[in-house]
Amino acid sequence: MIISTGTASGKSLAYLTPAVASCLDGGTVLYLTPTKALAADQLRGLRELRITQVRAACFDGDTPFEERTWVRQHANYVLTNPDMLHRGILPRHSQWSAFFRRLRMIVVDECHGYRGVFGSHVAQILRRLRRVCARYGSRPTFLLASATASEPGAFAMRLTGLEMDEVTMDASPKGSTTIALWEPPLTELRGEGGAPVRRTATAEAADLLTDLVLADVRTLAFVRSRRGAETVALSARAKLADVAFSAPFTGTSAFTSTGTPPATDASATNDDLDDTTSATTHDLGDATSATTGTAPTSGSHATAGEPSTESSVPWARRDLSDLADLPDKIAAYRAGYLAEDRRLLEKALREGTIMGLATTNALELGVDVSGLDAVLIAGWPGTRASLWQQAGRAGRDGRDALAVLIARDDPLDTYLVHHPQALFGQPVEAIVLDPGNPYVLGPHLCAAAAEIPLTEDDLPIFGPTTSDVLDDLVSAGLLRKRQAGWFWTRRERATDLADIRGGGGAPIQVVEASTGRLLGSVDEPSAHTTVHTGAVYIHQGETFLVELLDLEAGVALVSSANPDYSTFARDITDISILTTERSQPLGPGTLHFGEVEVTRQVVSYLMRRIQSGEMLGDEPLDLPPRTLRTRAVWWTLPASAVAPLAEAGIDLGGAAHAAEHASIGLLPLFATCDRWDIGGVSTELHADTGLLTVFVYDGHEGGAGFAERGYARATDWLTATREAIASCECERGCPSCIQSPKCGNGNEPLHKRGAIRLLNTLLAAE
Ligand SMILES: [Zn+2]
Ligand SMILES: [Zn+2]
Repeated sequence: MIISTGTASGKSLAYLTPAVASCLDGGTVLYLTPTKALAADQLRGLRELRITQVRAACFDGDTPFEERTWVRQHANYVLTNPDMLHRGILPRHSQWSAFFRRLRMIVVDECHGYRGVFGSHVAQILRRLRRVCARYGSRPTFLLASATASEPGAFAMRLTGLEMDEVTMDASPKGSTTIALWEPPLTELRGEGGAPVRRTATAEAADLLTDLVLADVRTLAFVRSRRGAETVALSARAKLADVAFSAPFTGTSAFTSTGTPPATDASATNDDLDDTTSATTHDLGDATSATTGTAPTSGSHATAGEPSTESSVPWARRDLSDLADLPDKIAAYRAGYLAEDRRLLEKALREGTIMGLATTNALELGVDVSGLDAVLIAGWPGTRASLWQQAGRAGRDGRDALAVLIARDDPLDTYLVHHPQALFGQPVEAIVLDPGNPYVLGPHLCAAAAEIPLTEDDLPIFGPTTSDVLDDLVSAGLLRKRQAGWFWTRRERATDLADIRGGGGAPIQVVEASTGRLLGSVDEPSAHTTVHTGAVYIHQGETFLVELLDLEAGVALVSSANPDYSTFARDITDISILTTERSQPLGPGTLHFGEVEVTRQVVSYLMRRIQSGEMLGDEPLDLPPRTLRTRAVWWTLPASAVAPLAEAGIDLGGAAHAAEHASIGLLPLFATCDRWDIGGVSTELHADTGLLTVFVYDGHEGGAGFAERGYARATDWLTATREAIASCECERGCPSCIQSPKCGNGNEPLHKRGAIRLLNTLLAAE
């Protein structure tokens, strides 16, 4: 069974009740979550129930060895994550025999996180789990809990391999939420190729947060990075400090007449801001003069771009005595806080000592804040599902609420704020995964054979491609085929073959240079784009700078840093078609889906200032090319269809390139991926097709289901792409429509009008 409903709709109660009942009845329960933090929270909640018969325990990388034996032998409610199940529990299933024999229920919580390559790995781990359970004679019930998703039953079936019932009706009491779509204005700044740059989502979020807190509205702002969240909190605090000492009771007239604020007030501001003043000064840009102590005017909020009259400003209605505390009412939150700190924060929010909180989506996993009036979302969170989940944080006690989506400089964000119909009244995305990907399946078949030798009877569990993949594994010398089945006879650990959070291959370890602390790992293909030398690397909301990427040693050395820019790796790509699996006509052209070989080389990286979006430079990199076998969707147009465009003076290469960039930006609307999971190639004349061709491919070895989804939804996807380009008000293209931060050609050539004409031609018959 899968329960797929919104935030705070009571999903936990729905699985806790039968799970606890199973324990009382002598059974055991396995609870799976994507993160250790969530498991720890669940454990705390279970212990608070004070039911002595429920012996709950976490079993993850943090569990001390001396406790592990106790958990295996005595716990009847075990909380763990897919990584631990894969590496720790399944390979040693015999030590867990008592637990598996009595296993009644498997709870898979937050299962919408299991998408793409990671989701495909988890799907295979769950199949291995089912097989181990069968060995001990148990047939546990799977109970999945997910945020709202499209076709949750179909997703759950792909994830577990079992028929699933779905529960999607949410009957919990809720007020109504007003959703605002907010597009920041274009600024005077100029980016690549002289393109206009929009005011950043973080700058707008800081303004809105300030206004809402002043109006006594409890607000949560979701910002992508911790650095961004801190910038929003600092800017908003500085603005509030500004308000606190420019308000009438401190003598606005005195300020204006003397031209400088009283010394005491100025120092108070500096104390409040502490050593963060410089960051504030920098980040606020045009607000600098106000925060550093020159005379604020009565309309000091003019920094928001909307000068207001004294009577209409929100704080004019406030009790002036508490103005001095205003800046303290805003805080920033990040992942990694201890449980006690999180409880304190929850309390401060509930009681109103904190009115505004800026956070990364770390909050999604950890803090229980439901008592909010408004939510600001700086930048499209990737899916409609996450949007509703974040917006669902607003609305306390069934009261009405506000949620604001602030667009970033990106084609998808632009499209959405101009096309509300793409958000409202639409089902949320289907969660896409592809358990049959041979690069995922192969390692898990080895792991499964190491657990219990595989027999013919096991093949259906792992899907229709299993026997082909087994043959490959035998010829590669990984498995040995005998009369009784397939055996793992090597000395290594079979589970080391699968890097479940990456895409296969030996992962690159990300290590803090000064302490030797291992922060995490990145799969090898992604390493070129995310942890190249000079990259800004964000780990759980914390910012690091990569000092050195050593591919041979498999290590990226990083150091904690606070750069005011973000980095984008740029690559150049070649693509060749290996097989065409499906084709269908599309307008005068043809749409294809199939296997391709992609040769990609990261050649440089771009730096952009976080607060303003301004381009700071393009640094060359020296990295080897990588070859990737993956799946792609591509479309072609015959010469007869493009000839009229060329005659009309359109640069076909630039038009195809622009259409490719924008379509990569828009695919995440139809498949749950982000633009970094996919790549593209466009050309006026491709060697394999002999035609104008635009490819979009999965960035993971073997594919992850994204391109396949693009093929299935091509008309909607390409129509949205055309709309996104057409609705951007820039003249010749900008980052909000056809420019891509990861373009290896420095966004050259690009032809905006041509891209619209080209897509019109392609979609003509639709
Ligand atoms: Zn534009
Ligand atoms: Zn490009």
